[in-house]
Amino acid sequence: MHKLSLAELAKGLRDKSYSSVELTEHYLDRIKRLDGNYNSFITVTEERALEQARAADQALAAGNTSPLCGVPIAHKDIFCTAGVKTTCGSRMLDNFVPPYDATVVENLGRAGCVTLGKTNMDEFAMGSSNETSYFGLVKNPWDTNCVPGGSSGGSAAAVAAQLAPVATATDTGGSIRQPAALCGLTGLKPTYGRISRWGMIAFASSLDQAGTLARSAEDTALMLGAMASFDPKDSTSVDKDVPDYTAALPDKIAGLKIGIPKEYFGEGLNAGTEQRVKEAIAELEKLGATLVDISLPHTHLAVPTYYVIAPAECSANLSRFDGVRYGHRCDDPQDLLDMYCRSRGEGFGNEVKRRILVGTYALSAGYYDAYYRKAQQIRRLIKQDFMEAFKQVDVIAGPTAPSVAFPFGAKKDPVAMYMEDIYTIATNLAGLPGLSLPCGLVDDKPVGLQLIGGYFEEARLLNVAHQFQLATDHHRHTPANID
Ligand code: GLN
Repeated sequence: MHKLSLAELAKGLRDKSYSSVELTEHYLDRIKRLDGNYNSFITVTEERALEQARAADQALAAGNTSPLCGVPIAHKDIFCTAGVKTTCGSRMLDNFVPPYDATVVENLGRAGCVTLGKTNMDEFAMGSSNETSYFGLVKNPWDTNCVPGGSSGGSAAAVAAQLAPVATATDTGGSIRQPAALCGLTGLKPTYGRISRWGMIAFASSLDQAGTLARSAEDTALMLGAMASFDPKDSTSVDKDVPDYTAALPDKIAGLKIGIPKEYFGEGLNAGTEQRVKEAIAELEKLGATLVDISLPHTHLAVPTYYVIAPAECSANLSRFDGVRYGHRCDDPQDLLDMYCRSRGEGFGNEVKRRILVGTYALSAGYYDAYYRKAQQIRRLIKQDFMEAFKQVDVIAGPTAPSVAFPFGAKKDPVAMYMEDIYTIATNLAGLPGLSLPCGLVDDKPVGLQLIGGYFEEARLLNVAHQFQLATDHHRHTPANID
């Protein structure tokens, strides 16, 4: 059953080939037997999953037509789940049991999804390798000596190892697309505002966006349709109809104009990765697309700009973790200041502390204009680059990550790690949707092709990805040791 796609699983449930309880038990059994190899889950919610599966079976018997009813999924441990521990990969929240569900969790629950558990992640979604989690590193199912990418590495490893058919994830600077690339999956970061952020633990609020890690564009379309909604509880959620994202999948892409940004093929891009990405772009041309050379001239400023804005927002967002209301509190505080200092000192890991320090510095009086305001100005220029490009082309294509999965400990210098997101971060700064899909292997490890679209053009990205997946079988490749 775990070989089947989400769409196939949904059909099997409707045809009564198996029940949701059987399907859920199958995945729970795989997690129990195999997750010791990957550490992709922080929490497995066995009893609750079986309860939800029984309810889904009843709903199916009563004629429920939701395409996701009874399908098991996993949630990144950044989404609040009522009554289930939600850690955000941090010691700070090791004891946190939210009293409510995130809107994403609620929406997927309403669609009938069964939650298998909560997946591992870089602490507070800060990282590109899943090495910063308080709950231990996550191993890439393609090569367990290598990272799965981050910060949604647990979701990516769980789906790649077929411990869940699909998982939710979040992307602030690349955390869906980069692990999708490194684990051979299809990952979509929608337009900022398409999916509610309510109940999603905030890292950098103007950049964070929820999405999915899945095995195909078709599965991604099914998930997005259920996750997206206008949510009055998130003031940045956009009140826009949610289309049927599967409707446009069969459209041919002949005549589509695809922009190839020269800045995405420069120094730093691994030669093998470049070759696979160029072959994939040639395949899109064979499918009838026209390639157009374009320029996104401020690309080189995206990483430095992000590393002012994201830490600034994180320093404000993470100030709520003070040991007073919830989260970790140190033992025997001497006074209030001692409690703040030791609770935060013990609760947060080094990367989180580094970001809080950088962000607090950038926002402090006297530096605000030089750093934060300047970064916001450059952010506008980066957005304008895209707007100019989209006057000429429908979609932009390039690599997702500069190389394939790398060994643990390979990137010791934080800046080397930050460069992992060199091709993904600009999309978050502009608020645009981006999708990564597998396009072949280098050294037996997957390479990702990134597609970037205009605002709310998710259906188009999914259409291009689906047509590519009909014509090729890269997305069907699975790690050699997965049975
Ligand atoms: N790798 C980037 C960072 O460390 C992006 C993380 C993300 O998208 N959540 O901030």
